[in-house]
Order: sequence, then C-alpha cells, then structure tokens
Amino acid sequence: MDLMDNIKERIIYLTKEIKRHNDLYYRHSLPEISDYDYDTLLKELVTLETQYPELKQDDSPTQRVGSDLYLGEKNIPHKQRMYSLDNAYSLEELKSFVLKAQNDLQVKYLDICCELKIDGFSINLFYKNGTLMYATTRGDGYVGEIVTENIKTLKDLPLKIPFAGEIEIRGEVYLPVSEFERINEERQLDGLKIFANPRNAASGSIKLKDSSEVKKRKLNAFFYAVGFTNQPIAQSQSEIIKLLDKWGFPVNMHYIRAKSYQEIVDFCNHWDKERYKLEYDTDGIVIKVDDIALQEELGYTTKSPKWAIAYKFKAEEKISELLDVAFQVGRTGAVTPVALLKPVSIAGTTVARATLHNIEEIERLDLRIGDKVRIIKSGEIIPKVLGVVEENRPNTHLKVQFPENCPVCKHKLEKEEGGVITYCVNSACPAQLQRRLEHFTSRDAMDIEGLGPANISLLIENGLLNSIEDIYKLEYEKILMLERMGQKSVDNLKEAIERSKHQDFHKLLFALGIRFVGSKTAKILCKSFNNIEMLINATEEELQSIPEIGQKIASSIVKFFKDDDNVNLIRKLQELGLNFNSSDETKNDTAISNLKFLVTGTLKNHTRNEIHKLIEKNGGIIISSVSKNLDYLIAGESAGSKLTKAQKIETIKIISEDQFLDMIDLDE
Ligand code: NAD
Repeated sequence: MDLMDNIKERIIYLTKEIKRHNDLYYRHSLPEISDYDYDTLLKELVTLETQYPELKQDDSPTQRVGSDLYLGEKNIPHKQRMYSLDNAYSLEELKSFVLKAQNDLQVKYLDICCELKIDGFSINLFYKNGTLMYATTRGDGYVGEIVTENIKTLKDLPLKIPFAGEIEIRGEVYLPVSEFERINEERQLDGLKIFANPRNAASGSIKLKDSSEVKKRKLNAFFYAVGFTNQPIAQSQSEIIKLLDKWGFPVNMHYIRAKSYQEIVDFCNHWDKERYKLEYDTDGIVIKVDDIALQEELGYTTKSPKWAIAYKFKAEEKISELLDVAFQVGRTGAVTPVALLKPVSIAGTTVARATLHNIEEIERLDLRIGDKVRIIKSGEIIPKVLGVVEENRPNTHLKVQFPENCPVCKHKLEKEEGGVITYCVNSACPAQLQRRLEHFTSRDAMDIEGLGPANISLLIENGLLNSIEDIYKLEYEKILMLERMGQKSVDNLKEAIERSKHQDFHKLLFALGIRFVGSKTAKILCKSFNNIEMLINATEEELQSIPEIGQKIASSIVKFFKDDDNVNLIRKLQELGLNFNSSDETKNDTAISNLKFLVTGTLKNHTRNEIHKLIEKNGGIIISSVSKNLDYLIAGESAGSKLTKAQKIETIKIISEDQFLDMIDLDE
C-alpha cells in the first residue's frame, strides 16, 4: 500500500467513525467517547481533507452538522438554516478569530457579544402573527423534527409574542443539574441506564413520545437568537437578547458586550472558575460579532457562522489519592481494572472511580497504591487518570498487581493472545451472568424495560434469575414479594418480557453476546443468513464471503456455535418462543426493485442514510461508484464529480430527491 492509499483509508475510516459517533450522540443521546476525543478525530479529518481535498468523501461530516433526525418522524424545513459553531480550545485561538474578523471586515475595532455556551439541545420556535405555531429540533440543519408538544412543557415559554409576521426564535433546551441528578437516581432505582450528563438527558427527553413524561422532567431553556424573520428586529446580538427578554423568553443574562480583547479573556476566565456554581451546565463561551450587518458581511462556512466561535473550557484537573484498584469482570469475562479514588469534586460531580482499561495502562502509568494521581473528566463525562504526581512519592507505595485468578469465581485468568485484555474463561462465573443479562436486556438488544442492572441484581440475589432462559420462566408471584416490586412494575415487566419474544432476529443475535458481533454486524449477518440454523452451520469461509465480515469476526462466530452450551441456550430460547428468523422487510416487485442507485450532494429534506434506507426497503440496490451499471443518480445540491461523470453516461438517469420520492410508495 502506498502513502496515498494509507491516507485515503484513514480518511474513509475517520469519516465513517465520526458519523457513527454523530449518530450515537445526536440520535441516541448515548455517546461512546468524550467530546474531546470526538473533536480530536474531527480535527484530524479536517487537516487531512485540507491537505488532500481530492480524497474528501461526499458524505464528509466536516461539511454538515450532525443530524438528530429519525426516519419516520414528522419533519419541517427550517426557514433559515441552523448552523453549528466552530470551536477554539485556547485564548490564542480566540484572539486569532477576533483579528481575522477585524481583518476581513477591514475595521480596527469590533464590539463582541460574549455569552455562556449552554450545554443542551438546540431548538427552533416558529411564531406567526404572534402565536407559537411549532417547535423543531436542529435536525440536519435544513430540516428539523417537530417536538412542539414537548416544548410546550417548558414553564416560561411564551405561546404569544408581540410580533406581527413570521419569525424563528432559537435557543437551547437544558436540564438543571439538580433535575438531572433526580432523574438519574430514579432511573437507577428502575434499573434503567443512567444518563452520562445533563446534555444527554435533555436531548433524550426532548424526543420522548409521551409529553406528560417530559413534563415531569422539568426541562428549561434559554433563547438567544433569531433565525428567519420577515422584518428585522434588532441591529445587534446584544439587542436581540434584550428584546427576547422583553418578549417574555427565558434568556441568560450572563452576557457582556466586550469592547476589548482583554474583556473577552476576563469573561472566559471568570466563567471557567464560576461555572460550577450555576444550576445548569455550560461547556464554554460563545463570542459573536455584535453588529448584525457585519455578521452578514462575514457570512458562513459550510457548517458554521464566520462571525461567531465557541471557546471550549478545558476539562478541570484535580489531584486525588489512589486508595485501591478493583478488578471488574464483564459479560465476556474481560477483567477491567478500576481505580478507587479518594472522592474529589470535578466538573460538578464527585469522582471516586476511574477505569484503568487494562494491564498495559497500569504499567504505562506506573501506578502504586497510595499515589497522588491527576484526574480529569475527559469531555466532562468519563473520569480518567492522567498520571502520577511523582514528587515526594514514598518508597513504601506498592505496585498494583494484576490478579492471577478471577476476583469473583477464582477461576484462573487468561490473557488474550497477542492482545492486552485478560479474561475469566469460566462461563458459569456469576459476575459474567449479571453482565450477560444486562447486555441481553439492553435497549439495542432485547430492549426489556424494567430489567436493568438493579433489578437483574435483585433477581439474581434472590435466586430468581440464574441464566438467560430464566428471564422467560420468571415466577412473578415471587417477584411480587420482593421489596420495591409493586403489582404495576411486575405487570409492566411481564409485558416487556413477552413483547421481547417478538424482537427482530438481529436484535436477538446481538443479545446473545458473541464476541465482536455488535448490533451493526448482527444486522449484516441477518441479511445473509435468514435463520439461526444457517448461522450455526456457517463455515468461516462462508461468513467471510460477506464483505463486512473479516477473519476475526468469522472465527469468533464459528467458535461461539461450536460451544454446546451456547447451542443449548438457543434451543431452550427457541422452545420458549423467541424469534430466530429474519422477516425480510424488503418489498419486492416495486417500481424500483433491483434498480441500482447512487446518492450524491446535499439533499434538501432527508439525510443520505434515510434515502439509502428507503432504497433498500423498496428493493433497490445501492452502489458506490458511477459506472454503466448505475440506473439512477439522485443528485442534491453541490453534487460534484459523480454528477459530472454520470452526465457523460447516457443510460444513467439523473433525478432529484423529490423525483426519487415520487418513484416509491412512502405510505407503507
Ligand atoms: P456545539 O454544541 O459545539 O455548538 C453549537 C451549538 O451550541 C449550537 O447549535 C447551539 O445549539 C449551542 N449553543 C449553546 N449556547 C449558545 C449560545 N449562547 N449561542 C449560540 N449557540 C449556543 O455544536 P454541535 O454541532 O451541536 O456539536 C458539536 C459538539 O458536540 C462538538 O464539540 C463535539 O465535541 C460534540 N459531539 C460529541 C460527540 C461524542 O461522541 N462525544 C459526537 C458528536 C458531537
């Protein structure tokens, strides 16, 4: 492979990976990595794309805001596009931003409006002749999902405003920190997964189907901007804030109109220290050129305004003491070391534990019990041990030793061949049972609400749950006798368990917990193998003939089905009525069945992924390059080289997004 191939491969990988994280963050409110790590990936992609523009992918996440849209929900186009913000991670970057704006505008001086960056969920309100008509999410920036009923649960939201005409008002919905803590306590008791931070809790809440549930969550909002308006309402950003306040919107009054760079710096430093005293999370300061005429002159990049930037606060660093290291056993038997720390308050919450990942990390950090350690919460979410304070470290501190036997069942541990992970290979280990059950019932798997970690542990402790198949043989009368389990929760649990019997095959396959088979791989497998018998009998070669399945996954699948315990479990679950067959949703015999499609450019009303799903659902085939094989090219705005190439091939029909939608049956 030459250098260019390597770079191309890296760009494709980053594009895919960032899009996956966007999906987890915006659509599911369950990020896997910290914001800092996400931003590092994005920065790398931007740098590579700038150096090698010809390798930029059509669907690059650097060119559009992450989308929160779901196929099937009701959407409305924004009257004016909703953008993201560029980030600055240092005060120097802020200075460069101000100097560049002054230079581009050819002025010596600029008024800058500095506001708190509220860490929540963007919202757009549309008023017509003074009445709130609807509320939408940012969506993909062009189109938002309707969430009016949920937004109406906000306490101080004006449903009427003194403005004749049409206007979009924009702001950020957030969850007060105290509410976030209350909700998480409640979720923990109900055995549900807790939210990592108030931002995720707010975004998870705004899209709930049941508005009365949203009302209970006491969401708040701050409004700070105007989108479309058919009549200008102010000449500066600071005037907009004042006017929104006058109209009855909740606005954040911690803003200034800075007249010098020093004032901006002082404002940023002040709030960096004081932010933890606020009732809501703020992850930075947004600085905006105050004058709206000048904003318009500066304009926008493909993703963000050129007249504003977000200064992101650094993660707060604290010193704590390493009291001990615990070794946790996961569902696959992987043993993870966890640092037990003297509790310290970081970024608004108390941290007493931090994952140390694996044996190599412990060695890299050269950790010893009793050490003073530097802790941050990377991206304000996940506690991380940065390093050891080595000064004045006494010789008496003992090195952390990785155990030789499983801390729970005492079975001998084994190190992964060529890897860094240590496993307990005893499948009867009770710690693995808890995690395996948690995985089996989780949302992306069998999605059994009411059977989260707390309730699983309660049922295991009381001898009511000893294996996966026990879920479908629970003795509900006995559960009723347990503390905390009322008739209603038991009825709900029973219903959720019954419902899960009809869960799609790919979810069940994912739930089985085959190593390296995540939910995406499970879906891919179910497309080629329609039922479990086909999979049980598949050879490594057959599995590897699927493009997305490599040797590692194939061998793990074959190994899983070679184990009689696993096959026995499947047989028992079959007897209990679980669904081990794919019901193919794809419609045959449609106007587009077996026709080949390619989508390029920016679409108006759908994301590319949504169009792909529609193509597949209607029996069409997606291909990735322009050739004589292609039947239709769906071209959006700014379609590039693919469009030019397709125009040269007579047999390819070039159509718009709307023309495509006309070809398929959207109602079914
Ligand atoms: P953003 O959150 O960094 O900034 C833009 C948003 O800030 C605006 O859309 C607006 O809603 C909000 N905002 C809050 N207060 C504001 C104010 N006073 N004025 C103007 N806007 C204000 O941008 P984004 O595009 O929503 O998200 C990108 C961020 O999300 C990145 O910094 C990234 O770290 C994070 N992210 C993380 C993951 C992950 O997996 N951890 C994935 C995707 C994105």
